[in-house]
Amino acid sequence: MQYISTRNQELNHTVTRAMVQGLAEDGGLFVPAYIPKLPNNALEDMKAMTYPQRAVYLMKLFLEGYSIRELNDFALKAYSSEKFDTPEIAPVVEVTKDIYSLELWHGPTCAFKDMALQMLPHLLTSSLKKEEENKTACILVATSGDTGKGALEGFRDVQDTRVMVFYPQGGVSSVQELQMVSQEGKNVGVTAVVGNFDDAQTGVKTLFQDKELAKEAEQKGYLLSSANSINWGRVLPQIVYYASAYCDLLSQEKIQAGDLINICVPTGNFGNILAAYYAKLMGVPIGQLICASNENNVLTDFIKTGVYDRNRAFYNTTSPSMDILISSNLERLLYSLTQDTKWVAEKMDLLATTGKYAVEDIILSRMKRNFSAYDCDGKKAASIIKEHHEKYGYLMDTHTAVGFGALAQYRAETGDMTPTVVASTASPFKFTESVLAALGTPTEMQQKDLDGLDQLSEKTKVPVPKPLASLRGKEARFSDVVEKDDMISAVRNFLR
Ligand SMILES: *Cc1c(COP(=O)(O)O)cnc(C)c1O
Repeated sequence: MQYISTRNQELNHTVTRAMVQGLAEDGGLFVPAYIPKLPNNALEDMKAMTYPQRAVYLMKLFLEGYSIRELNDFALKAYSSEKFDTPEIAPVVEVTKDIYSLELWHGPTCAFKDMALQMLPHLLTSSLKKEEENKTACILVATSGDTGKGALEGFRDVQDTRVMVFYPQGGVSSVQELQMVSQEGKNVGVTAVVGNFDDAQTGVKTLFQDKELAKEAEQKGYLLSSANSINWGRVLPQIVYYASAYCDLLSQEKIQAGDLINICVPTGNFGNILAAYYAKLMGVPIGQLICASNENNVLTDFIKTGVYDRNRAFYNTTSPSMDILISSNLERLLYSLTQDTKWVAEKMDLLATTGKYAVEDIILSRMKRNFSAYDCDGKKAASIIKEHHEKYGYLMDTHTAVGFGALAQYRAETGDMTPTVVASTASPFKFTESVLAALGTPTEMQQKDLDGLDQLSEKTKVPVPKPLASLRGKEARFSDVVEKDDMISAVRNFLR
């Protein structure tokens, strides 16, 4: 199977080359030339499998040149009991009638990014070998908080790789920041950027297209690559848990084979919900995909009106991992809806030059057949956290709460009560300040930083996840800050 650039179908590569490169040469994203269909009784078969087996079964359909044995080895390492605190890996929990939380935060950094970033290093290092690249991959990452730690943890001390993370200064939670700046490992670096996530992401994309920098890196034996969801190796492992959730609902006899489910995803860069859409294209019986945004509701407007306009105020919210106005992976959806790379290239050019583009009515209606979109602000999200904790004994984080808020609006507006899986994207303990506040602890009564973890645990009787509890006593190793136009100097230093 070939992988093509969303901006030029003539530009095509093997999957291993696509993963090594991350971004296509023309700035487009790699997509498979077609989305494979699941075999007829795949979901019945997968029902009896463990999570790693399900991952192998599904990913194999996209990965030419990999043996089952090799993928088994990757999956067992990525989704092991050492890394995840539950054997189900991605458990499905019923919260209220016909609303399920797909908990994607049981991994080593307590956010859903682990689901892909525990697998990506295996995919990437094997791709380097298969492509006979004897260079060290230098992975540049822009993060809104969770990808950074996920990548650092996934790639730490992995041979033939180095990883450099850029995060927006003041744009992440205190636990997120502590997790990153205390990262251990010989091959890692962390730098704060003066700016927001979009600045960091645009900066990293610019670095990838800097021919001069690529040359310098090459001379030193490096090859620049990406662990952001622009890399296909990030999106692919994320498709697995949607198929897995369907299988679990079958096992729990909550649904019967063939029944439709809806999926609701708190969205930032559009990577997670895109994976759910691919699961639908592969044949998982999924009805509507509900795209949930916080105050940065550029996607809500786009899915409602067909106009994407990033020229608007940027808000720092209580769900910082979704504070994004340029949702990179939307480009993959645009390609899927049109199969027209020239059209996508035009829109992306407009986005880069004017910050805005519009899609034709026919494309909009195609999109609406699959997607609905709602936004939920921090105040509403806080009340949802409180309500679910008090009424149903379920504790969720601020991002997940945005998902629940969007779903409530969708149901009220459409009356569609199809069983729905909400992607729960982070542990509530990553956002202790906001979660404590939501539960009624005023700011002045809150304990600072890591003490907040215990305070939340005492209040809710939910144990602090081990990876967060163990941050205590770790030293900050990194304190560099760069201007957004000077990220290149941080990379040069790092490669020295
Ligand atoms: C990254 C992240 C999101 C957004 O996911 P996308 O794939 O960027 O849409 C939502 N919630 C949390 C907790 C995240 O870390």
